[in-house]
Amino acid sequence: MTVGGWRAARIESVEDATPSARVLRLAVPGWPGSDAGQHVDIRLTAEDGYQAERSYSLGSYGDGEAIELAVDEIPDGEVSPYLVRDVIPGDELEVKGPLGGYFVWRPGGAGAVQLVAGGSGIVPLMAMARAARDAGAAASFRLLYSARRAEDAIYREELDGASGSGGVAVTWAFTRAAPDGWTGRVGRLDDQAIRAAVWDPAREPTVYVCGPTGFVEHVADALVRLGHPPQRIKTERFGGA
Ligand SMILES: Cc1cc2nc3c(=O)[nH]c(=O)nc-3n(C[C@H](O)[C@H](O)[C@H](O)COP(=O)(O)OP(=O)(O)OC[C@H]3O[C@@H](n4cnc5c(N)ncnc54)[C@H](O)[C@@H]3O)c2cc1C
Repeated sequence: MTVGGWRAARIESVEDATPSARVLRLAVPGWPGSDAGQHVDIRLTAEDGYQAERSYSLGSYGDGEAIELAVDEIPDGEVSPYLVRDVIPGDELEVKGPLGGYFVWRPGGAGAVQLVAGGSGIVPLMAMARAARDAGAAASFRLLYSARRAEDAIYREELDGASGSGGVAVTWAFTRAAPDGWTGRVGRLDDQAIRAAVWDPAREPTVYVCGPTGFVEHVADALVRLGHPPQRIKTERFGGA
């Protein structure tokens, strides 16, 4: 049932993704489907009637009445600790969406696409990578994913397994610690690392950047310095530093 744009949703499964994040799959009767990159608003209602709403990107895309979210716990946050630690299959909440028509990728056209994710910013970009793989367009995609450590990377196994099997090519960056055998640098992305990992501006890629506000601003500024026109850089900010 839909009331004021809100649909009832039921948690179908929960899966640990990293020490601080979980992938949640929800059944949403009447869900109209979504484009890769869109998000939903989630509304929780406490027994005393108190309500909290937050936005979460969809890791899933396309038709069907099931959606996938991946939530990273923000210490001292109000909603994310509940979604990461407490919800169990069978729990109910409300969903509004799909929302957002700008930060989306739809199949068609052969243009190069660059994805740049910081932390949980991978979620809408994962939907795009999955859509590209399913549409046979993965060869024109590249993904640069910056995580604190390898074990903090959401969707790591799927991304590691994707290259060479029709998936999107991934370049990893680690800000705190690198996995065994890693020979690259450890630290925040600088211009050199970004230049090495993204399509050359001459290929005229559309670039999607998603993550915490500070990450997105840093990367977008660097991309412009490296010659990418601002109008081809699409950003989504998750809040926070
Ligand atoms: C369009 C959109 C899509 C989003 N998609 C996702 C998603 O797919 N997965 C996901 O985990 N989150 C996503 N977020 C962030 C999410 O909406 C919440 O902001 C986040 O879960 C924190 O909520 P909270 O209630 O736990 O913390 P709050 O109680 O709201 O905030 C607690 C503290 O954490 C800070 N903070 C808030 N958000 C962040 C953040 N993302 N990083 C660092 N610090 C933060 C606040 O400034 C505050 O100081 C998205 C946000 C937007 C706008």
